[in-house]
Amino acid sequence: MTTEVCLTVDVEDWYDGMAVLGEPIARPKEALSGLSGLAALLASARDEPTVTLFVVGNYAGSVLAELTDLVERGHEIASHGPDHGRLPEDPVALLAWLRKGRSMVEDLVQRPVHGFRSPRFDVPRTLGLARYRELLAEAGFRYVSDTSRLGAASPVRELPVLTSHGIQVGGGSYQRLLPRAVVTNAVDSAPSPAVLYYHSYDFGATLPSTSSIRSMAMAKQLMGRGRVAGVFSQVLGRYGSKGCGNVDQ
Ligand SMILES: [Zn+2]
Repeated sequence: MTTEVCLTVDVEDWYDGMAVLGEPIARPKEALSGLSGLAALLASARDEPTVTLFVVGNYAGSVLAELTDLVERGHEIASHGPDHGRLPEDPVALLAWLRKGRSMVEDLVQRPVHGFRSPRFDVPRTLGLARYRELLAEAGFRYVSDTSRLGAASPVRELPVLTSHGIQVGGGSYQRLLPRAVVTNAVDSAPSPAVLYYHSYDFGATLPSTSSIRSMAMAKQLMGRGRVAGVFSQVLGRYGSKGCGNVDQ
């Protein structure tokens, strides 16, 4: 078991995600974000693991105290865009969008941001992957974690999310449905580093109960969520975790 593992968490709001899907659901007052649950879980792990937090810029301010606490405990902060929308197709607009996402988080947390993950893992179609990678470097990023790979020509390091047999087993949303052994088997046979991703709201956020499900979209976003933190803990206990910015080349 020599595979290095980077556990990453996309820090975003479940309710905002539902609004983007066209299914707005009112956020209860005092709703928990899940980040305190994540911090507690990490604090109880052995060998001081570090994770990378890909933070949506326009959400960072509402969870700043929790983010600051995680950063002070040595976890890495990265960008998940200024908002959770699609990447602009126009190169000038895309560059500005990428820079904005980075500086929003840097300004709030007061730490340099080196990594980027697009909200939907998309590549702007009209630009193509190579140009997109160039723009990431121009926007000041050193690495990107998505599902594409340009290879040696990429000016930013590529840390794609773990896939196995065409399935994105590194994704927390997939891990709700997969037997745990499928995840650990994929990690064991992956080249280093194996990058897995989760969502901040999977660690004890205040979410609607499954009995309030009234649409397929809502069902998709709620079913099995309770399993995810358990899978994360199991992977963490077995492999530990390094931040994406700290893994060996
Ligand atoms: Zn996201």
